Amino acid sequence: MTTPPDASSTSLAERLGVRAVTATVKSVETLSPSLAAVTLSVPDIAIAGVPGNDVMISIAKLDGSLARRRYSVRSTNAEESTVTFWVTTHHDGLASEWLRSATPGAQTDLVGPRGKIVLDPLADWYLFVGEISALGAFYNLAEAIETPGKAIFIVEVPEATDIVTTSFDSGLGVTGIFIERQGRAPSDAEGILRGLAAFEFPEGHGHAYLFGEFSQIKAAKLALLDRGLTEDQISSKAFWRQGKANQDHGEPDKTSDS
Ligand SMILES: Cc1cc2nc3c(=O)[nH]c(=O)nc-3n(C[C@H](O)[C@H](O)[C@H](O)COP(=O)(O)OP(=O)(O)OC[C@H]3O[C@@H](n4cnc5c(N)ncnc54)[C@H](O)[C@@H]3O)c2cc1C
Repeated sequence: MTTPPDASSTSLAERLGVRAVTATVKSVETLSPSLAAVTLSVPDIAIAGVPGNDVMISIAKLDGSLARRRYSVRSTNAEESTVTFWVTTHHDGLASEWLRSATPGAQTDLVGPRGKIVLDPLADWYLFVGEISALGAFYNLAEAIETPGKAIFIVEVPEATDIVTTSFDSGLGVTGIFIERQGRAPSDAEGILRGLAAFEFPEGHGHAYLFGEFSQIKAAKLALLDRGLTEDQISSKAFWRQGKANQDHGEPDKTSDS
């Protein structure tokens, strides 16, 4: 039996002008040592929005209150009315533990669609920079690029076996630079900065999408501004922050003194 969403989810959705539904876990599939694909059955696929959007799941905390966590949509299936997102499972956190052990039939409130970053329709090339938690968002955005076009991925992964690839329309020129973390801290931007340094901007107008760990994203943005991209050519979003749980509304702490 499907229970209605919690009143707090319904009122949050109302405030945001989006939807709240009860979603049911359909499957959890291991993609790599650090990444799993979670598919939820939803009563209304509109909750997934457009490529670049995310949804908020709710997890009950020990005190009974709900914490929310945001996950970018990897794909949707309108016929089956499902939403899939790719989640990192290698850390100990409220959501990752819940999702790791979720079995088909488990339920969660879903609030969405969330997020303002969508594909720039005018770009000639698209650069996706970040770490493994952003891979689902990057691939979903890249699949929406009108062909012919160019997509470049510079993505840090914990280990080589976490390089999860996908196939794109043959009209899309794709370059993938995957960097193994090799024991560096996730907040250490050295790997992606090296990846960026090895990459020459193509001709034409580019748009960069920077998603992932807070400090890495900050460093990558500075490097791209330094290379001549303008603020409006860069869309960045910190997904999480090393050493700090995301806040109950799903955002990482962005204060600079911590
Ligand atoms: C708009 C948006 C979209 C997002 N989309 C995705 C997505 O598609 N896939 C995805 O996997 N994540 C995504 N995230 C990130 C995800 O919401 C956070 O990683 C969240 O912190 C996980 O919650 P948790 O309860 O497991 O861990 P928390 O309770 O938040 O954190 C517990 C501990 O784990 C650490 N931690 C949190 N996340 C990670 C991580 N990824 N790797 C290593 N350590 C971590 C924290 O630093 C903390 O020390 C997104 C976040 C936002 C804001």
